[in-house]
Amino acid sequence: MAKIISGKEVSAFLNQKTADEVKLLNDKGIAVSLAVIIVGDDPASKVYVNNKKKACEKLGIVSFEYALPENTTQQELLDLINELNNRNDVNGILCQLPLPPHLDEESLINAISPEKDVDCFHPVNVGRLYTGTGKLKPCTPAGVMEMLKYYDIDIQGKNCVVIGRSNIVGKPMAALLTAQNGTVTLCHSKTKNLIEHTRKADILVAAVGKPKFVVKDMVKEDAVVIDVGIHRMENGKLCGDVDFDEVESVAGYISPVPGGVGPMTIAELMENTVTAAKIQNQVI
Ligand code: NAD
Repeated sequence: MAKIISGKEVSAFLNQKTADEVKLLNDKGIAVSLAVIIVGDDPASKVYVNNKKKACEKLGIVSFEYALPENTTQQELLDLINELNNRNDVNGILCQLPLPPHLDEESLINAISPEKDVDCFHPVNVGRLYTGTGKLKPCTPAGVMEMLKYYDIDIQGKNCVVIGRSNIVGKPMAALLTAQNGTVTLCHSKTKNLIEHTRKADILVAAVGKPKFVVKDMVKEDAVVIDVGIHRMENGKLCGDVDFDEVESVAGYISPVPGGVGPMTIAELMENTVTAAKIQNQVI
């Protein structure tokens, strides 16, 4: 039976460190703050934004919410981002995605000051990630790295296989594992004989966006399996990209859904907000 990699436990550990850092900064007269922009009424986005606001509150981070109507124009959003870029009392700026289809996400992400880009989506921060010079980290993959570190899972020289090459998860995940000396294979929808790759993985990260996609036969015995996926099943319960019940019997470690990568993403966002405050106050 696999050992469980508990995102609940690791995120609680990380959140405590973040709360301590916020307090230290506050003691020096530095407040830490995050501005969250949400456009339209997408219920899932509203839940995510609410969770981020609650996490800020818990850790002593000031949050500003900008809930804008569905018909907000590109220019209005750009003006708001510019205003937030210039405000000294705002350390982090996050624009909840997806945006309504009439808005151009890429140019809005590019408008956020790289120093305040706590999602680490700006091309400058993506470039810094690949050159190993960045301080802000991509939240979900950084959360996975934190989980591996917490459970003392060695990455150096290991075969690491990532399924999924999105800009948000798969690609930066491969970059972070490479930076820790893993031998990384990045698989995607056009990969031939996927199972041949996954069966060689010492560390397998599933970010494929398909419920219970990774089954027992795809996993090497004693592998570390990290499940990034989140899906709501017909019975209302959540599941991941990994068939947990099957894979648990073959893996050495496995992260569950819920209670795995999910809470790590928000914890990393909070840590990035503190890092942004430190960068802007030149205490890093
Ligand atoms: P995405 O849809 O942007 O990317 C999916 C990737 O999987 C693509 O690169 C695609 O090439 C690959 N893929 C699709 N079918 C495949 C196949 N048959 N074989 C191999 N590769 C295949 O998704 P994403 O944004 O990277 O998210 C992935 C999953 O993670 C989703 O379930 C999403 O909800 C979840 N997610 C969770 C968190 C979190 O905080 N836990 C954060 C972001 C995303």
